[in-house]
Amino acid sequence: MKIIRDSNLCYACKTCQLACSFHHTKAFWPDQSSIAVSRNPQDGTIKWRIKTCDKCIDEEEPLCVKYCMYGALQISNKNANEQEVKDND
Ligand code: SF4
Ligand code: SF4
Repeated sequence: MKIIRDSNLCYACKTCQLACSFHHTKAFWPDQSSIAVSRNPQDGTIKWRIKTCDKCIDEEEPLCVKYCMYGALQISNKNANEQEVKDND
């Protein structure tokens, strides 16, 4: 499973950060999130930073994907030929 990202759909709302922190700590604690999102105030570009992601192995689906209301994060089960990251990291 891969989580693919599309910066064209991301509004930097940081809901994924809250959802991820809840997965790890059962609290809304953004500092404990595996995913961090930021928008460059000058040019509007989106950056994701991901660390220690366990892909929500004990959840029905990754919470960051589940709660991204804009569809910027999605699950891909396809093979490595698919473009994994569509953002501008
Ligand atoms: S990926 Fe989705 S939930 Fe996360 S900041 Fe972007 S729009 Fe919000
Ligand atoms: S898949 Fe789970 S652990 Fe990984 S970034 Fe998303 S919410 Fe966090």
